[in-house]
Amino acid sequence: MEKSKVLITSIPVGSYKDVEEKLKKLNKKPGPFDAILVLGEKDLDVQDIDTIELSPLYFFASNDKTDLNSKESSGDVTFLNNYGMYQLSNGLKITYLMLTGKELIEQKASIVKYFSTIDKPVDIFISFEWSVAIAKNKGRILGNEVVDDVVKLLQPKYHFSNGDKSSYLEYNPFKWDNTDVITRFLNIAEYKSKEKWAYAVNIDLNLSQFDQEIPENLIQNPFTAENTKENKGENSNVVEYSKRFNDDELITERKIKKQKTVLPTNCHFCFTNPNVEDHMFISIGNHSYLTIAKGPLSVPKGEMDFSGHCLIVPIEHIPKLNNGQDSDTIKNLNEEITRYEKSVADMNYTKYDMSTVTFEIHSSKSVHYHEQILPVPKYLIMKFQTALDRQVYLNNEKFQNNAKLSFQEYKQTDNEYLEIIDNVESNFFRFKIYETNEAEPRIFIAMFKSEERIDLQFGRRVLSFLLKLPKRMKWDSLICQQTKDQEIQEVKKFQKGYKSFDIVN
Ligand SMILES: [Zn+2]
Repeated sequence: MEKSKVLITSIPVGSYKDVEEKLKKLNKKPGPFDAILVLGEKDLDVQDIDTIELSPLYFFASNDKTDLNSKESSGDVTFLNNYGMYQLSNGLKITYLMLTGKELIEQKASIVKYFSTIDKPVDIFISFEWSVAIAKNKGRILGNEVVDDVVKLLQPKYHFSNGDKSSYLEYNPFKWDNTDVITRFLNIAEYKSKEKWAYAVNIDLNLSQFDQEIPENLIQNPFTAENTKENKGENSNVVEYSKRFNDDELITERKIKKQKTVLPTNCHFCFTNPNVEDHMFISIGNHSYLTIAKGPLSVPKGEMDFSGHCLIVPIEHIPKLNNGQDSDTIKNLNEEITRYEKSVADMNYTKYDMSTVTFEIHSSKSVHYHEQILPVPKYLIMKFQTALDRQVYLNNEKFQNNAKLSFQEYKQTDNEYLEIIDNVESNFFRFKIYETNEAEPRIFIAMFKSEERIDLQFGRRVLSFLLKLPKRMKWDSLICQQTKDQEIQEVKKFQKGYKSFDIVN
């Protein structure tokens, strides 16, 4: 079977010279490549490129209004602008759509018309923007519906984007109805982002490659999932599936069926799970425990030589605090959680001069309730409301399928607040702000209905915006990952600072 080896890279303006040697090396191994595809920018440094010895190299400019559908050659470099199709001599078919935002919408009719004439199979599709279907599933604000239309038309084997320059992402493969084609979507981070900026792929030029076994991690097709009622129901299981810290990863079709209920034996927070990561535990109480966070958002700051990002988790496998248990159980659990919360806020304030924010989701669709706690520098805590408003605006305006959020501020003793948390039917997002160790916390609540789709990363989104740590938004991004040893060190440092505040003594 004939295969074609291709390298896809994302290189910012002005950096081409820095990268050239690296590309040459890559072209030796894992190359040589039939093509090196460079996702670039407007205003490429053409002079730089004139000097390259690599061949063949294709540049995709994000757009260039003067050159509609142009293919312009400069030595061994071919520039591909706007949108079109390019076929290598070995038959590899590359399609591209480099327009953005408004241009896409304005030219939608001609774009769709153009791509509907292209014969399948299509090996590679490159777009600057993401499809809405995938952006939404990943909780991103990126995405343009015209890209969705084109992906559905082309059903490419690979869809590459550099719309998110700061993070690398590999989306699980999915299959199209009525064909054997499996599509993989990858977002290539930009060179200098510290994430993966070059991706080598060996593409089988025959479609029959898909006679081979179906990948283990095959997921429901995000482009067709929205179209049927039944699938809409399954989508809501995204909410139910919590891989340790409510990550937004999608579920394989098999998992959707199997993991409708996550049992304590395979729940990431349950002691009965033999794989529970108990090296992360800081303190264990009677009804709940305190653990460091996987992929912490915050970073060591000032006197605090650990991230300070921790979680309070009930020992019992319950989706939310008020899950219809008897009132004593709820009372005891709530009391202990509040004590843990205050003890951490106390440590943050008295020992490290930091304020504290907690956030959590109360939903009957959660797997195992947990509350996140983060230290926030005092000079930033004043900006909490602004950060919250900003993210609410984005949630409500950009994610059309998300539940619309509206936060109300309460004091702990407000009757309305007590009614909300006492009602077993309530589903809500909650933030608590401990500006100091003594003042009562400010509480912000936004209610939603259990059947509504919610952004599981909303709390982390607000905090990453507030803390000005956008690159650490995703807990599973490379930058946030810690080794087991690093986690053990985190726990040791946390325990050292927390010792005199620990509620368990
Ligand atoms: Zn559990």
